[in-house]
Amino acid sequence: MENRYDVVVIGGGQSGLAVGYYLRRTGLSYVILDNQAEPGGSWLHAWKSLRLFSPAQWSSLPGMIMTGGSDYYPSREVTLEYLKLYETKYNLVVKRPVTVGQVVRESDEYKVDTSDGTYFCRALVSATGSFMNPYMPEIDGRALFTGQVLHSSQYFAPEQFAGKRVAVVGEGNSGAQILAEVSRVTGALWITQKEPRFLPDHVDGRFLFDAATQVYEAQKQGKQYKPPSLGDIVMVDSVKEARGRKVLKSVRPFDRFTEDSLVWADGHEEKIDVVIFCTGFKNSLSHLRGLNVINAEGKVDTTGTRANLMDGLWLVGYGNWTGFASATLIGVGRTAKATVDEIKAFLGVALAQ
Ligand code: FAD
Repeated sequence: MENRYDVVVIGGGQSGLAVGYYLRRTGLSYVILDNQAEPGGSWLHAWKSLRLFSPAQWSSLPGMIMTGGSDYYPSREVTLEYLKLYETKYNLVVKRPVTVGQVVRESDEYKVDTSDGTYFCRALVSATGSFMNPYMPEIDGRALFTGQVLHSSQYFAPEQFAGKRVAVVGEGNSGAQILAEVSRVTGALWITQKEPRFLPDHVDGRFLFDAATQVYEAQKQGKQYKPPSLGDIVMVDSVKEARGRKVLKSVRPFDRFTEDSLVWADGHEEKIDVVIFCTGFKNSLSHLRGLNVINAEGKVDTTGTRANLMDGLWLVGYGNWTGFASATLIGVGRTAKATVDEIKAFLGVALAQ
């Protein structure tokens, strides 16, 4: 069978599914290719206790409200169940596990090389997120260190660290939440670039989304609006509990590793068994390398989600550079809809020629 489609979507996480939701009503042939064994995208690899920042009612993809209302913050399991049900309910065409290697442009088609053979399409949507591309800073002496080094993307639960001396690096939400739970089972040192900034207790993802919406609406009207900067870390229950134990104290970054320690510029040393880097992610775009569209910042220049330098290519999810709040469940619907509207117009024009 020839794998020829109007549209191929790479990535079957929340962004790929939102695009599928709008594609299914167009009459265009499409397939979503995802390298995971099951539905859920990066949520499959989230740590065990992770909960959404926003209540269920504010955490939904287009068409299907996540149940739980305005006071329930969905768990990892509930989010996974929701994404699985979403695929089934809308009968989305997803193939798994299929890993996309390289994409090349051949005349007016894309040739998509995958672990399941070659696919061809006129329009390509990349929705691969960033989870596959964790970022860890390079620090002197790393090769000497005999302890365990991991990224937050490899962290699942604190129990395995009981009795070990753990350093958690990073002042974002991942760092705060992992520090909070690891410090319940063992001595943990929190290392941050600067003093962490905690949001007031009542501020959750819903509040942040509303503030970001005001910025977006102001920009659309050509106005400037800068919401007050309240902090970075959402006070989820585990972080509040850690505050009660007075463990939310941090030190500044170390200079180098030795065989069994971290060493600071002033010569101070700490013996450490495990370092967990909660230092974020970069966009997973290596499959687009052959198209020469990746810029110096590791992004693709786009107008909305549409690539500026390559016909027939869209990027959905990733972050604000592909559209307001597009890396969230509630935000991606808008950019997914705009993407599919543009694809319809693009293929309509192309087919008529
Ligand atoms: P992903 O979920 O990463 O899906 C991309 C899919 O593409 C994956 O299945 C991946 O394996 C696959 N893929 C990648 N490369 C290839 C390839 N070459 N071939 C085939 N398949 C490929 N968001 C919210 O909305 N609410 C929250 O409360 C929230 N809390 C968060 C808390 C933390 C600590 C973190 C880290 C993130 C949180 N997020 C939250 C953000 C959210 O998890 C991600 O932004 C979201 O999963 C991105 O969805 P996506 O579909 O774009 O990418």
